[in-house]
Parts: sequence; C-alpha cells; structure tokens
Amino acid sequence: DSAKAEAKGGTLIMATNAEFPPYEYHEGKDIVGIDVDIAEAIAEEMGMKLEISDIAFDAIIPAVQSGKADFGAAGMTVNEDRLKNVDFSDSYATSVQSVIVTEDSSISKIDDLKGKKVGVQQGTTGDLYSTDDLGEKSVERFPKGADAVQALQAGKVDAVIIDKNPAEVFVSQNKGLKLLDSAYAEEDYAICVKKGNTELVEKINAALKKLKDNGKLEEITAKYIQA
Ligand code: GLN
Repeated sequence: DSAKAEAKGGTLIMATNAEFPPYEYHEGKDIVGIDVDIAEAIAEEMGMKLEISDIAFDAIIPAVQSGKADFGAAGMTVNEDRLKNVDFSDSYATSVQSVIVTEDSSISKIDDLKGKKVGVQQGTTGDLYSTDDLGEKSVERFPKGADAVQALQAGKVDAVIIDKNPAEVFVSQNKGLKLLDSAYAEEDYAICVKKGNTELVEKINAALKKLKDNGKLEEITAKYIQA
C-alpha cells in the first residue's frame, strides 16, 4: 500500500498522463509541467523524492487505489464519481471544458454541438459531459487529447471538448483551429490519494497551503501559463 511505498526509500510515486500541456507533457526525455513542479515541491516539503509514473488517464485512479502510485496529479477534476473511489486534496487550480473547432466551422456555441461528432480524451470530464449532452454515438474517444485534435484537423470529428489550458496549447500548435467563446462550468483540479489515506492527504494539503501562502504556486503557474 502507499504507506509501504512511502517507507520504501522515501520516494513518492505520482501517477499522471503526460499528454496534457501545460499541466504535464513531454519535453525531450523529461516530463514537465505545472503538476510536476507542484508535486516536486510537495515531495520536497515532505523530505521525499518524486518518481513519475506516466500511464493512461483512466488508469490513474486504479493505480492509486491499488497502491501502485501514492497519488495522482493530472489536472484531475474533482467529481462525485471519482470521490467514490479516491480522496482528493484541496484544490490547487480551476478550469473549464472548452470547445475547439476548425476556423471555418459552423459551430459557434455549445448548443450547435447537437447532432455533431465530438472528439474527447477517454475518461475525462470532457468525455462525461459530451456523452451526457450529446449521447454515446456522438462521442469519439481518444487515448490522448492531441489525437482528438488530429481527428478534428482530418475532418473525422466536428469539435474537440477538452480543458481550457491544453485547448489553448493545441490551438496555438495547430493551424486552422479556434476556441469557442462559450465553455462548460468551472471545475476544480486536485490531487487524488487512496481512499482513507488521511495522513498523506493532510501532508499534501499542508504543503499546498504553504505553496499558496509563499507565492510558489503562483510562480509555478506563471512559468507555464502566460497571462
Ligand atoms: N480535467 C479533466 C478530468 O479530470 C481532464 C484531465 C486530463 O485529461 N488530464 O477529467
């Protein structure tokens, strides 16, 4: 279990899915991003080393439940379903689900998505919302957000629903795409731990509070997101 993992050489194992810029992504051989810097700072506060386990987004909660990872940090939105399976830390960021379309698209608001094909990253809140709103048949699921964006460029889907910050990165990296002005409701990002691991969640919360109070959290965010 995670107590064991913690005791083992003082290493904290973070499960993530490094396909979600600017929160976690590959830069050469490294995995970098806001969540990585926050997790590094938390581990440092706890006097431990950080190890990153890069897995599929929908494998993160199972990894935390089984104790393969001590916590999950992946721009993960707190929701009721996930709260049944894991505990969450205090929130460290907020976001919304944004809609990416091609520049020449006839879709100009969320209502226009009815009857259209939408690409999402499997198991994300974007997946949940679009499946709820548009129905199973309208949703095409991809292992990575970037794959959904490729499908949009190839004309295989009409829109991509994904968190705002990665959406902005994908639009800036790919020609001919834009974001709709309208987006879904605000969500809270938090770190998940195994259910009942109050000791770890308290340590994470104490470290997060410190990072909020001393301006480090803001500094980390500003390093990756230019206002
Ligand atoms: N915030 C979204 C969610 O929690 C997407 C996270 C991600 O793709 N890494 O479902």
